Amino acid sequence: MTDAPSASSLSEAPSDPAKGTLRILQLYPREMNIYGDYGNVLVLRQRLAWRGYGAEILEHNAGDAFPDDVDLIVGGGGQDSGQVVIQEDLHGIAPRLRDLAEDGTPMLLICGLYQLFGNEFRTNDGTVIPGIGVLDLETRGGTERLIGNVVATSEEFGEIHGYENHSGQTFLGEGLKPLATVLKGAGNNAEEKHEGARYRNIVASYLHGSLLPKNPAIADFLLRTAAERKFGSFEDGGVDDSLAELARRHAGARPR
Ligand code: GLN
Repeated sequence: MTDAPSASSLSEAPSDPAKGTLRILQLYPREMNIYGDYGNVLVLRQRLAWRGYGAEILEHNAGDAFPDDVDLIVGGGGQDSGQVVIQEDLHGIAPRLRDLAEDGTPMLLICGLYQLFGNEFRTNDGTVIPGIGVLDLETRGGTERLIGNVVATSEEFGEIHGYENHSGQTFLGEGLKPLATVLKGAGNNAEEKHEGARYRNIVASYLHGSLLPKNPAIADFLLRTAAERKFGSFEDGGVDDSLAELARRHAGARPR
């Protein structure tokens, strides 16, 4: 038996994070990290730092041992070919991911990993990539790519802004709630005007950009949930979101 290397640690926690440190795990940054998705992790780290908390950023790539102790999980998008590359490893860690999801660990899943947390992705060339079934949804590759700025609205997070670029079209099972209703762009598919999915403490979305710089409400939901689970509370004051607000207005005004 070979010992798998452990998930690599990108940034050690600051030596004295006054209020405690969250362990944030980025899934497959080598293959599943397009259109700036890694920015989501940087936003989480920065919003913690502004409030006196630390972040330890871990990466899980194919072949790594899955870390024992994780407070928040982030996954990005990727090419169909990248999704094929990671599928075997993803199925290996699926039992852990399922337990963490059911237990309420906050997760942000974007595009390619959103699709693979579902039941199946049948790509445009007929390849079937089985998903890990955490989310009851299926994805079918289409001939048309859905590309452009998206504005969607949700009761929980207000207006959500991001950028989509995918050929897969996702359909949610009956019991699964969409994250938001699309006002501009496509979202999950070309028909339903649904964007993303919302399950336990998982936020799943097609939106890149990356998503969190323009959507502080989602970033803070993930951080608050993780901090309350770990420390019993979250002190969330002291953040100036005026630049995020400007970026939202700018993106929302783009023709596409
Ligand atoms: N390869 C998938 C698709 O095209 C996911 C793309 C993405 O992550 N942006 O549907």
